Amino acid sequence: MEVESSGSKVLVVGAGPTGLIMAATLQRFGIDFEIIDKKDGLTDTSKGLSLNVSTQIVLYLLNLAEHVGVNGQKIRKLNLVHEKDRVMSVDFRKLSGDRYLITQPQSATEAEIYHCLQCRGVEVQWSSALQSIDECASGYFVNIVKNGSEVIKGPYRYVIGCEGKKSLVREKIGALMESKQYSHYFLLADFKVKNTIDNDEVNYIESGGDFFIIVPLSNNICRVVMVTDVKPSSEYALGNALKNLVNSYYDKDIIVSEAVWTSSAQIYLSVADKIQLNRLFICGDSFHLVSPIGGTGMNMGIQDAFNLGCKIAAVINGIQDESILHKYQTERLSVVKETCAKVDVTTRMIFDKIFRDENSGFFVPDITKRNLFKKIYPESYSGLSLRYPMNSPVEINEQYKNQYVGCLFENTNIFYSGPFKEKLLKPILIFNVDESSDFSAVQNMVSLVRAFIDAKYSSVFHLINIGNSSEIFTGFINFPIDCNLPVGTFTLLTCEGIIEFMCDIESGGLLLAYIECMYVKTSGMLSSVGVGV
Ligand SMILES: Cc1cc2nc3c(=O)[nH]c(=O)nc-3n(C[C@H](O)[C@H](O)[C@H](O)COP(=O)(O)OP(=O)(O)OC[C@H]3O[C@@H](n4cnc5c(N)ncnc54)[C@H](O)[C@@H]3O)c2cc1C
Repeated sequence: MEVESSGSKVLVVGAGPTGLIMAATLQRFGIDFEIIDKKDGLTDTSKGLSLNVSTQIVLYLLNLAEHVGVNGQKIRKLNLVHEKDRVMSVDFRKLSGDRYLITQPQSATEAEIYHCLQCRGVEVQWSSALQSIDECASGYFVNIVKNGSEVIKGPYRYVIGCEGKKSLVREKIGALMESKQYSHYFLLADFKVKNTIDNDEVNYIESGGDFFIIVPLSNNICRVVMVTDVKPSSEYALGNALKNLVNSYYDKDIIVSEAVWTSSAQIYLSVADKIQLNRLFICGDSFHLVSPIGGTGMNMGIQDAFNLGCKIAAVINGIQDESILHKYQTERLSVVKETCAKVDVTTRMIFDKIFRDENSGFFVPDITKRNLFKKIYPESYSGLSLRYPMNSPVEINEQYKNQYVGCLFENTNIFYSGPFKEKLLKPILIFNVDESSDFSAVQNMVSLVRAFIDAKYSSVFHLINIGNSSEIFTGFINFPIDCNLPVGTFTLLTCEGIIEFMCDIESGGLLLAYIECMYVKTSGMLSSVGVGV
């Protein structure tokens, strides 16, 4: 059998959305890797269609946001409708900044990411199926069937399984899937529709004993999802059933064509009990399988890949100790379980038709009028409410240990004042985050800052999180700047002057990009990134 030695340190198995984002993250940090997939090319299926706000942030930080999802549909509201009455809305405009979900077929998302990767010199090795993995002193050798012939490749220091539902890497890790059983089915179909449906709103409709969801995509296509307790006899029957359901609900022929894509399955929810063994990892559907209710599966996979990819890159680039890789499991298992618990609740509410049941004690119209819910729901459905465990934010020293770092604010203002050349040896990044305040994306910023700054730049930066600004300014440095740094503000003190950010998440990314340009390019590690501010 042919043995091919590999100079790459990382093997990514699977080029679905998770594997492609893993590739984009490793590429961004200049890591040498290979990515293989058993298929002979990109997927052409519609499947996962929503890119939530957290995913959009990852796309932004990987310099993909200008290319991925730009032709998708912006969704600003999710409505729960009982018969013809709207009983509740999740309004993403309640979040700070211009927030929305993007919907488009998964095939489009994958193709757009892959196109960017190709422009950056990354090619997927198609028709290459992983068969087995063997560990040895120098790493992992893998057996691959490539275009019909068996080859052994390696050694790789890390193997990352992004192979979806059936994962060999997961088997090798010895992980068990903890599953919840449901007896219901979901039916899905994409249709061409007349331009009479609100294009930027998703409707969850409960009518005449049926429950279905209508999700607009761009180009007058919409996805219809229905929950039933019987499996349809054929794809054709499925398409017809959904078409009739929608047309009779609206009392006119909104759907004029046959379905352009259909799918159905029993509702599922399962999570692996562990996601790492030594230098083997799993991400995406290999790690968690969530039925489409709530549109979380692909988004979680993208977050897994970004989280792990940053950490592996930091270790390979010699910035972090390998022990940081254990945080992947701690962080991602906790948020994935939290998300699955929410999906489980929503799924059961749909089965039980609890939305309309006044006797059940949970009457949606009542609770959703409250301000708390007006904010909590948009955070939750945008992916912004997830929090990593408390013990993982940036740590600068004992005094500031376990403090949050990050912020979320409406507008971006960047301005300089200074200079402070004589006084500053190292730039100082100061964040003021009031933990008691309601900054929905603080934890997102924490993970970003940790991934980008703590991992890579701790040697060039002082990172300071302040609750009480006067304390730090008198204790640390003696600068003629406003000590009342507003909560939610970054201040970057550099040799050139002060840069202040009244910041939302994208602007946080902008700050990180700035830091890369100013302070890291010279080290040569990010020479291929080409970020600019
Ligand atoms: C009908 C349907 C609707 C959905 N709707 C949504 C939604 O609205 N929102 C959402 O977020 N998610 C949704 N999902 C979930 C979403 O599609 C998945 O979560 C997502 O595809 C997972 O991506 P992945 O890259 O982890 O796995 P996959 O997309 O399954 O990709 C895995 C890749 O690994 C390759 N592979 C497998 N085994 C091997 C091997 N041995 N060697 C080499 N390559 C291998 C496969 O060929 C494949 O390309 C939906 C799923 C379905 C089925």
